[in-house]
This record gives sequence, C-alpha cells and structure tokens, in this order.
Amino acid sequence: MVDFLSQVDIKDPYFAALSSEEILLKTKGKASTMHAYMELRSRSWIPWTKESKQIWSKYVYQAQQHLERAFPQIEQLKTPWKIAQLDQSIEFGYSYTLQNVIFLSSSLVATPPKDAVLLLAHERMHIFQRLHPEVFHTLYRAKGWVSIPAPTIPTQNILLTNPDALDWWEFEGKIPFLIWDGKPALRALDISTQEITSTQLQHPNEELAYAIESSF
Ligand SMILES: [Zn+2]
Repeated sequence: MVDFLSQVDIKDPYFAALSSEEILLKTKGKASTMHAYMELRSRSWIPWTKESKQIWSKYVYQAQQHLERAFPQIEQLKTPWKIAQLDQSIEFGYSYTLQNVIFLSSSLVATPPKDAVLLLAHERMHIFQRLHPEVFHTLYRAKGWVSIPAPTIPTQNILLTNPDALDWWEFEGKIPFLIWDGKPALRALDISTQEITSTQLQHPNEELAYAIESSF
C-alpha cells in the first residue's frame, strides 16, 4: 500500500513558478538558481529506515481507512501511496505534494506529530486535487470560488508558491496568496481596493484539505 521512495526524478509545473528570491528562501540560502535548487534536492534525499517505514505504514493505513469511508466513490483511493523524505532544510520543512508523491521532511518523519494521520490525509487530498481538477473545481465553484488568471500582486514582499495550490482563485472579491514576512504568511488581495490584508482565507485546495482533517 505504500512505496517509500528514496529517490525519484519528478517533474512538476511548480518548479517553473519559482523565482530566484523564493528559491533562496526555500533552501535557507543554499541555492538561488533553478539548477542549483534541483541539484540540492537530489542531494537531500533521506533514506527510510525499517523503523520509520513501520511507523508511517500504520499512519497511512489509518488515513486510508478514513478516506475510504469518506469517499467510497473515488477509485483512485486504492492506488498505492508514494512518500518521499527530504532534508528539513528544504521548503521550510513543510509537507507537500508534487505529482503523485507526498514529501515529508526528515525531522517530521523522525519525530512524527500527534496528528500524523490527519497530515497524511491532508496531503493525499492534494494528490487527488491534482489528478481530478474537474471534480474539485466544480466543488469550489459551487461554494462561490471563481477561477482567475494569475493576478499582479502589489507587494514589496517575496511571493511564495505553494506546490499544492498553483492556480488562482477569488472568493467574494478576495484573492488569497502567500508571502514571506519573516516567515510564510497568508494574505489576501482585495480586488476592488487593491489593498492587501491579513486573512484566514486559504486557496480552496488548502481549505478542502483542512476540511478533510476536521472530518476525522
Ligand atoms: Zn496543504
């Protein structure tokens, strides 16, 4: 049920969306070009130990049970999980997905959080979102979200790209996005005033993934 990957050549539109400032931030200054970033990633794979495979297999099993109960109609649920482990210095140590692979940081794997099962269910949702955009976009539109082209954000801060939320959506005149403000921070652009405000509003991919977590 789980492939614990120790190396994979992954291509994803995410990489093309990164600016050099963003690469610097997401590698703690170790890389500034795409080439250096990719090289760093390829050197940052952490092998899975027998013990960590056993522990994380249990979490996957529990997450899978819940997702199958919640979405009996999704056939893709039965596909094997692919989980990779990268050094924690990359991508702020966050968990995220690229294509059909879940990436976890080495520190998270070594010290699993209490909510490891929820975290896995959240990430698995991002993989379904990528595989079935039409299903999820229909859901988002029904909730009032509007799909929009990439906007120009009037900010001095560095914009951050979330690999799990590459497209742009607007909700009630507000567009959520991430910036660097000493740490990754959520902001929204008000379309009518062009003002940037703090917000709880997240990209619909994230809102849905968090909603799955709270359904446990
Ligand atoms: Zn997420």
